[in-house]
Amino acid sequence: MAKKTPEFARTRPAPPEILFDESNWTKHFVPADGLAEWVAKTLMDESSPLYNEDHKHLHYADIEYLWAAVENKRQMRRIVGQCEEVTFRCGAWQKGRQEQQMKEWFGRVPAYLITLDANYARECSDIEFCSLVEHELYHIAQERDAFDAPAFTRDGLPKIGIQSHDVEEFVGIVRRYGVGAAAGKTAALVDASKRAPEVGNVDIARMCGTCLLRAA
Ligand SMILES: [Zn+2]
Repeated sequence: MAKKTPEFARTRPAPPEILFDESNWTKHFVPADGLAEWVAKTLMDESSPLYNEDHKHLHYADIEYLWAAVENKRQMRRIVGQCEEVTFRCGAWQKGRQEQQMKEWFGRVPAYLITLDANYARECSDIEFCSLVEHELYHIAQERDAFDAPAFTRDGLPKIGIQSHDVEEFVGIVRRYGVGAAAGKTAALVDASKRAPEVGNVDIARMCGTCLLRAA
């Protein structure tokens, strides 16, 4: 039986109705108001039943959230979430235009942007929503130093960056050679799968754009 209850998750903010209004063609992306606060309260506050200390470095990360009412499909799969470091590798006008857009949405240019599919967020269960948001948050990790310890900046703050998923391996390798021979954290993943889920069971399909972008 799961130790924690997802009850807390029911307070999650919903995408605004304007995104689903067919006659409206100007608002397909809107800031996910209240989501940063919900994440802080639900996942990053130690008194919350869904608190996850894996995210504690995120207190030092500048993250904003966006609802997208535009369907995003890649490699035949529907993408329902994406996490990116906000950088503009382009000319002065494109950069300026995109910076202005960020400022209009958020009042500043955030360091990280998490975009969530508004249609999915409207339909999915609370626990699926938690799983999706946490998946995207896991992409914003504290970097490791040369000794594989958590890395810090010169100011003593966690050094933060985008990380890809923990495991990328072929099932056949594990079947033939065991988890010991498998790439990265496969053994840890297999280990985790043997325990009862801390939050609850959810069908974890790989629907994250950040993962697909990085998949070889
Ligand atoms: Zn991902």
